[in-house]
Amino acid sequence: MSGARTTPDDSRPSRLAERMSVVPYIAAWSGEPMVHPRPVRVAFGGGRLGFPGEDATSYGHDWRGTLWARQFLGRGKGRPQYETVHVQRQRRAMSDLLCQVCGRTTVTGAIGERFLFLVKDVGRPILEGERTTSPPVCVPCAHIAVRECPHLVKGHVATWVRDVVPWGVAGIVHHPYLVRPVPGKGLVDVAYDVPALAWTLAYRQVVALHGCTPVNLAELTDPA
Ligand SMILES: [Zn+2]
Repeated sequence: MSGARTTPDDSRPSRLAERMSVVPYIAAWSGEPMVHPRPVRVAFGGGRLGFPGEDATSYGHDWRGTLWARQFLGRGKGRPQYETVHVQRQRRAMSDLLCQVCGRTTVTGAIGERFLFLVKDVGRPILEGERTTSPPVCVPCAHIAVRECPHLVKGHVATWVRDVVPWGVAGIVHHPYLVRPVPGKGLVDVAYDVPALAWTLAYRQVVALHGCTPVNLAELTDPA
């Protein structure tokens, strides 16, 4: 970004993101629209949110019975939407601990291995048990992210994490009888063990970070 002429519009995150040297793995593309119908009440599992005409064997629900928003898969089709996270790729990156930038695994299988997480600086380290929807990063991509990601260039916090614990989802909670979104809440974190999970259309997987050790990225080798 250095050396580029700056206009007022250039300060917007979306304009800044267009200058990134890579399109993050979890970023959506314009050729990947949401493709699910409006959710309805379905009978299985004691009553829950579902898609019309689908049952418990449909792929819309995960093994916990949570309904997931459905988005077309077409990575690379159209234009990158840097500000939009793709539902399925975020979920896969979090479940399989893939780097959110390059999509490669961050799992090495080494005894005592830890995973690198990176968030915008909020004036404190990442706390023990803190929840996040932001998947891990590999070390080379962490250096790219803090140089280029508009959310991180002004400051970031990094931590090694020993235990990445599935916690719940972030989604749109629906009223169980009206089967309409609860007004004015947007994406809400919903734990796996609360009744509202059955009435949530999930858009993100949420994990809790345990065994956190703050790290200074500058002290980590950047192979680039
Ligand atoms: Zn990476």
